[in-house]
Amino acid sequence: MPRERRVFNDRRPVLSVVVPCYNEVEVLARTHARLTQVLAGLAGFECEQIYVDDGSVDGTWEVINSFAGASGSVRAVRLSRNFGHQAACLAGLRESLGDAVVVIDADLQDPPELIPELAALWRDGWSVVSARRRSRDGETLFKKASAYAFYRLLNALSDHSLALDTGDFRLLDRELVALLTGVPDKNLYLRGAVSWFGLPETSVTYDRDPRQAGESKYTLRKMLALSRRGLLAGSVAPLRLSAYLGTAVLTGGVAAAAVQRDVRLLARPGAFGAHALALGVVGEYLHAVFRQVQGRPDYVIQDRLGGEDRPGAASPPPSKKPVKEPVAL
Ligand code: UDP
Ligand code: MG
Repeated sequence: MPRERRVFNDRRPVLSVVVPCYNEVEVLARTHARLTQVLAGLAGFECEQIYVDDGSVDGTWEVINSFAGASGSVRAVRLSRNFGHQAACLAGLRESLGDAVVVIDADLQDPPELIPELAALWRDGWSVVSARRRSRDGETLFKKASAYAFYRLLNALSDHSLALDTGDFRLLDRELVALLTGVPDKNLYLRGAVSWFGLPETSVTYDRDPRQAGESKYTLRKMLALSRRGLLAGSVAPLRLSAYLGTAVLTGGVAAAAVQRDVRLLARPGAFGAHALALGVVGEYLHAVFRQVQGRPDYVIQDRLGGEDRPGAASPPPSKKPVKEPVAL
């Protein structure tokens, strides 16, 4: 269920668009042009574009500089080296001032033309508006199949439900940006964490275009690292595997010994099962420590009825006023 419609009487809401870029010199000018055109036509919003150069070595930063020089509504940060897509997105979220923030890939696989639809749903009261991929043109069969399987596996194993077939192309309300950037999690898996907070979430579907120029920057190694991050952040299942295995082997051993009336049959499964179980116990403690380190809040209050004026009740609502007004495009 969405919250009530967001109404701004005294000012226009600010929309930030975060673009993580790693060696995107071939496509970035096109991306900037399309994004600028879409944002110029977005009635009722002030807009800013935030480019995050994730340690590019191909002149991406110089290209970004030329955008920033041409328009006051463009800001940019350059990371000291390649920290990876998730870190770049996080840096952009931290830099953003908007009441709503859209994260979009630099290679035009995510069409900027979808942004008005995302913004309209945010206006209607949704806190998260994800862009779900209906089709993925121009991607390898391996990438399509592995992504399809991974999202479903993660959803099945995860402690909370996740948006399927959805990358990081989505709009986030300021409240959620504040929550996300406030957790001390060093292995933040953005697309999973977004759903974890449980705020009103909806999606629109789109056909994903092929990359408009250049090569994919997600090497197999980076894809595996992202999947590992997602699995570890969202699910305790891998840690419990050892305990399950130990229990199954021990039970099997006891059953075999009972049926055969020979206690010696318990020796091997007994030793293995006890080891695996002990490892499982260690895993449980590790899990407790891990959750503590992730630092997610114990709960998130979505709405409150009455009692706003009781002492100590004031968790101040996130500021709706940007610190620095972005210039209109
Ligand atoms: N990217 C990044 N840092 C990285 C890898 C990628 O900021 O280490 C950016 C990249 O420039 C693009 C987005 O993340 O804007 C998605 O990357 P890419 O299009 O290469 O991934 P794919 O669509 O092939 O999965
Ligand atoms: Mg891409």
